[in-house]
Amino acid sequence: MARKTTIRNDEADSDELKDSTSSDGSASGSGLGRGGGRRSSDEEGSEGNNPEQQRYDDELRPSRLEDVVGQKAVVERLRILLEATKRRKEPLGHLLLDGPPGLGKTTLATVVPRELGTEMQITAGPSLGAPKDLLPYLTNASYGSVLFIDEIHRMPPAVEEFIYPAMEDFRVDITLGDGLNARTINMKLQPFTVIGATTRSGMLTAPLRDRFVNREHLDFYTDEELSIIVTRNAGKLRTEIAPEAAQEISVRSRGTPRKANNWLRWTRDFADVRANGKITLEVARAALKMKGVDDAGLEEQDRKYLETILRVFGGGPAGVQALGHTMNIPADTLEDEVEPFLLREGFIQRTPRGRMITAKAIAHLGISQKPKPKSPRSGEESPDQRELF
Ligand code: ADP
Repeated sequence: MARKTTIRNDEADSDELKDSTSSDGSASGSGLGRGGGRRSSDEEGSEGNNPEQQRYDDELRPSRLEDVVGQKAVVERLRILLEATKRRKEPLGHLLLDGPPGLGKTTLATVVPRELGTEMQITAGPSLGAPKDLLPYLTNASYGSVLFIDEIHRMPPAVEEFIYPAMEDFRVDITLGDGLNARTINMKLQPFTVIGATTRSGMLTAPLRDRFVNREHLDFYTDEELSIIVTRNAGKLRTEIAPEAAQEISVRSRGTPRKANNWLRWTRDFADVRANGKITLEVARAALKMKGVDDAGLEEQDRKYLETILRVFGGGPAGVQALGHTMNIPADTLEDEVEPFLLREGFIQRTPRGRMITAKAIAHLGISQKPKPKSPRSGEESPDQRELF
């Protein structure tokens, strides 16, 4: 069911978002209106889809544009768009945000209606199984309001086609009956704004992508930016943190605010139980070591990924599906959550034939030998594979 979130300009904190039931009086389905839909098995491993993670994210989410750290160029362009929209008193053009998970797509999407003082509804591609699931959101959209669709690349084709006229002409075409008796009614909608978020802009069809007049790509954060986020959020969590500890958490957070926030929470718990509650550099290091985070920010799963390419696939090239099967992790999770950072840091290379490990990764794993050649018979399990699993 559609869920409306009324956001007013004078609200100070993100947790003050006011939820109301939809105009048909039905209660909202799930946390942030996103969890209730179907979910493919591919998504299970994804952090951002976990309800507890969503609650954590919401708690520490900046509520105003001025509180958003980093992404300077994107924020600057948004400021101009918002100012122009307010002056003209027209709805904002549809906006597409893309980038790896945890970089602030939902954050920016929630900040926009707050800055504009308009209402917002939230849903996600996997929750929209058929056009009828989208219809209440469209008919409930008030003039200038925002409809945020997370994971928009997961909308089924029928829903995608249904949203085209809604985005372009603010109308929906509803077909009643079928066969010879079928007729289509056009229903006018209030002009509104779709904000779509995706980790895979490449998976969007060209017609859908073209309907977004504004497109922004979010990139990884610098250590300094993450350090500001960690220090600020430690304050929100009423935890004392030494500047070097904030820096240490930041460099191990893979350029991702969600990671930084999660490590901050973990080090806070660790500090409460093992120390006197203060996060010092020593406490941060011990806490992250216990979680298996190394000094480059790689975790168990990242190292296992690199070792799989190295040992099972002889250093590569290895296809992501094959890697996923070997590691027993959905290929989508590898593509969304593991590979972007490893690529950026030069631990792997993507070639047309698959992923290759780099010398930097081999050095990082502390392995001196060269990648071994692949076993000549493909189905055969090498001794190294047995060692790994
Ligand atoms: P995404 O939607 O891209 O997966 P989110 O917007 O949910 O990511 O961000 C995850 C968490 O990271 C948020 O709760 C927020 O606390 C934090 N965060 C993200 N971007 C920023 C930012 N630019 N400044 C401060 N905190 C941020």
